[in-house]
Amino acid sequence: MQCTRCRNHAIIFQQYSGLHLCRQHFVADFEAKAKRAIRTHRWMESNDHIAVGLSGGGAGSALLFFLKALTSERRDITLSAITVDEGIAGYRDPSVAVKVAHSLGVRCVVASFRDEYGTGMDEIAAEKKTSAPCLYCRVLRRSLMNRIARGQGITKLALGYTLDDEAEGVLVGMVQGDAECLLLRHRKIPGTVPWIRPFMYIPEPEVALYARIHLHHEGFGQERCPYAHDALRGDIKSMLDGYTLRHPSARYSLARIGERLAEAGETVAAGIGTCERCGEPCSGGCENCRILMEVRGSAA
Ligand code: SF4
Repeated sequence: MQCTRCRNHAIIFQQYSGLHLCRQHFVADFEAKAKRAIRTHRWMESNDHIAVGLSGGGAGSALLFFLKALTSERRDITLSAITVDEGIAGYRDPSVAVKVAHSLGVRCVVASFRDEYGTGMDEIAAEKKTSAPCLYCRVLRRSLMNRIARGQGITKLALGYTLDDEAEGVLVGMVQGDAECLLLRHRKIPGTVPWIRPFMYIPEPEVALYARIHLHHEGFGQERCPYAHDALRGDIKSMLDGYTLRHPSARYSLARIGERLAEAGETVAAGIGTCERCGEPCSGGCENCRILMEVRGSAA
C-alpha cells in the first residue's frame, strides 16, 4: 500500500483518518499530535524542569525520546527521568529504563519502594491478600514520584499515557458511576507537581510503533505485571477494541468527554486542600496518609 501523502511504501493505516502513512509521514503526524496536546494544555513553559516517568516500557521511553528531540534546542527547559522499582519480581528491571535514559543523554533518578517504604509490592500483595494491589501501588508510586519531584525542583511530571488510557479511564469512571473520578482525574492542585500527558491524543499501537522506529533496547517493554488483572479494565479494553472497528473515532470522543468533565471539575477541585502531613491532595481524610501508615506499620 502507498502513503496517501507521498506514494512511498505505507507502514500504517489509520482507520480513524482514512490515511495510509509512510514512515516519514507517520512520524510527522505523530509528533504534530503530541505537540498539539502540549500547546493546547500549555504543558511546556520557560524554565520548566520536566521529568518523564520511565518504566523501561515503550510509551515512557517513546515520550522521553520525543521530549528530548523537542527540547534539544531549548536552553530554558531541563529534561530528566524518574524510574521507580515497585519491588515486583520479574517485572520492570530498572536497569532497562536507566539504559534508555542514558542512551538519550538524560539523567535518570532511580527510586524503589523498598528503600522508601521498607517493603515492596510482592510483600504488600502477599500480606494484604487484597484483590486490588494496584490501589496500593498507584498511591505509593504517586507519592514517591511527587516527593522526588518536589525535592529535585521538577515542575512537570510527564507520563506516557495514550489515547487508549484516556478513553478507558473515562469509561471505567462511567461504568463505576464514579463522578468524582471523572471530574477530578486531572485536577491541578496547588503545591503538587502537575502531570502532563503529551501522547493523550495518540492510539497505543501508534505509540508502540513510534517506539519501535526510534528505540532498540534488549528487554525493552517485554514484561507484564503479574498483578495486572483488573477484570473491569480488561473488559472495557476488549469492548473498545471491538467497538472502534466499526466506530473508529470512539476513543477520541471519550477522551474529549473526559477533557470537558475535567474542565468542569476545576470548580470542584477548588474545594480540595493539601494534606498537612504528607503534602498530597486530600479532602477530609487523606487516603495517601492512610496507605502510607498501613504499609510503613506493617513493614516495621
Ligand atoms: Fe502496580 Fe498494578 Fe501497574 Fe502492577 S499493574 S505496576 S501492581 S499499578
